Amino acid sequence: MIETVDAVVIGAGPNGLVASVALADAGWDVVLLEAQDEIGGAVRSAELWPGATADLFSAFYPLAAASPVIRRLELERHGLEWVQAPAVIAHLADPDVDDCAVLHRNPSDTAAALDRAAPGDGDAWLALFAQWQRLRNPLLEALFTPFPPVRSGARLAYRAGVSEALQLARMALTPVTRLTRELFAGEAARLLMAGNAMHADVPMDAAGSGLYGWLLTMLAQDVGFPVPKGGAGKLTQAMASRARASGAVIDTGQPVTEVIIRGGRAAGVRTAGGREIYARRAVLADVDAPRLFTELVGVQHLPGALVADLARFEWDLPTVKLNWLVDGGIPWRATGARKAGTVHLGTDMAGLARWSSDLAGGRDSDLIFALLGQMTTADPTRSAAGTESAWAYTHLPRERYGPVDAEQVIKRLEETVEQFAPGFHDRVIGRTVQRPSDLEAANGNLHHGAINGGTAQLHQQLIFRPFTGLGRPETVIDGLYLAGASAHPGGGVHGACGWIAARSALAANRRLGPARRRTSRAVMTKIYGRLDPS
Ligand SMILES: Cc1cc2nc3c(=O)[nH]c(=O)nc-3n(C[C@H](O)[C@H](O)[C@H](O)COP(=O)(O)OP(=O)(O)OC[C@H]3O[C@@H](n4cnc5c(N)ncnc54)[C@H](O)[C@@H]3O)c2cc1C
Repeated sequence: MIETVDAVVIGAGPNGLVASVALADAGWDVVLLEAQDEIGGAVRSAELWPGATADLFSAFYPLAAASPVIRRLELERHGLEWVQAPAVIAHLADPDVDDCAVLHRNPSDTAAALDRAAPGDGDAWLALFAQWQRLRNPLLEALFTPFPPVRSGARLAYRAGVSEALQLARMALTPVTRLTRELFAGEAARLLMAGNAMHADVPMDAAGSGLYGWLLTMLAQDVGFPVPKGGAGKLTQAMASRARASGAVIDTGQPVTEVIIRGGRAAGVRTAGGREIYARRAVLADVDAPRLFTELVGVQHLPGALVADLARFEWDLPTVKLNWLVDGGIPWRATGARKAGTVHLGTDMAGLARWSSDLAGGRDSDLIFALLGQMTTADPTRSAAGTESAWAYTHLPRERYGPVDAEQVIKRLEETVEQFAPGFHDRVIGRTVQRPSDLEAANGNLHHGAINGGTAQLHQQLIFRPFTGLGRPETVIDGLYLAGASAHPGGGVHGACGWIAARSALAANRRLGPARRRTSRAVMTKIYGRLDPS
């Protein structure tokens, strides 16, 4: 039987789900095909031990809570409930010290703690946060809209004024090592920002790391690091419920192996099971860019310049992740870490700079920096009272993702937790490991455990994401849109990649659509040469 719908969406990660909602809301009939037996992509949870839930990939959602795209979905009506840990983030830099930097829920508590560490840093923190509050709305709109963000960018420039806008632009380019020195006198405040910068794979001393550090730190102070009550999967389940309520059909266990191309246009898809679904209007792919173009489309359909760009595509760092069930909680020596949902763990500013440059240089590092989640502290429903469902992950150099390298890093990571929390090993009553290959097997987009759909460094952002072009979801194949984290604005659970792709597909099918499509193809021909090599 030949199936035909308005749009096929490939991949039920948060971006594919958001794209399906946007298209179905516009009245399109939509089929969303997911390769795995479960929806959610890198936003899933499971009962790894009886009565205890673990988040299998992502866990904390400041971007989702702040994202105008996700807020508009009103997921609370579909079962989503956000909860928070008593403190947002702790940074543990020295195992022999029983004090640590803490980002509290309340800005004045954070400021008071930072001021005790270095007089003056409290006021500096509050001033930075006041600036964030003033600029937050236009800034988030600008981040999460199609590139270039004309209207929201203008609103931001108006709100900030010329001088502050220029200062912001400079801050966005300043490496976090330098930015934190300019902003704060003491190590505690610097560590909070630098630890947040390390959520992306931008080296500490590279342009752009300051922007990530600032953005995540300010979000942490503003909306906290919330988690869905009951497990990460509740977030994507709410998105799926929202999509179904609008009429989208979601089919799991349906790996798409081919985008069917007819006359240079994406006509539909073929699945591993031989199912063919034709799309009258669009195919949207929540699939990483390299696999989409080389495996699902095929290089024979691509202009040579794009094939060359594909060879230059840079993945972000491989990841290893551990999940533990801990009886009695993690016995941190620094009591400040006991109430934090997120713990940044391992080393100080100098160590972070060395660790990130080791990784960027492809070297095994004797240092470690890990992100650790105390999920029961954030959400008491995750495991029985008195236990902690926890995880930690860290990265490997890009070329060193094999089992031997992973094993070394896993050992170092567990030893590091033990150093900061003596007695930890003896309390572990459940343990699972996710090596780079495990992460990729559970979700084809996580290439060697890369978490962000490609590097977040400046040379692969905006008009360079995923390759040099327009920074837009339209592709060289008419009717095919990039809807996943490989597209602008990139990794993280904010739904913007899916929403922007859906908006572009809808616009191309409106009254002025043919003119838009012609313009877009003319610009792409300028960039890539003749688009249809076959
Ligand atoms: C370990 C880890 C920790 C993270 N921590 C955080 C965090 O705390 N907060 C945060 O905001 N972000 C975090 N992230 C990043 C975030 O999870 C991702 O950026 C986000 O999930 C990307 O969403 P997506 O929809 O683009 O892709 P994904 O979530 O990767 O979903 C893609 C989906 O498409 C499916 N798919 C792929 N190819 C095909 C095909 N050919 N046919 C059918 N289906 C296909 C996959 O199976 C998958 O379900 C983390 C990621 C990882 C891996």
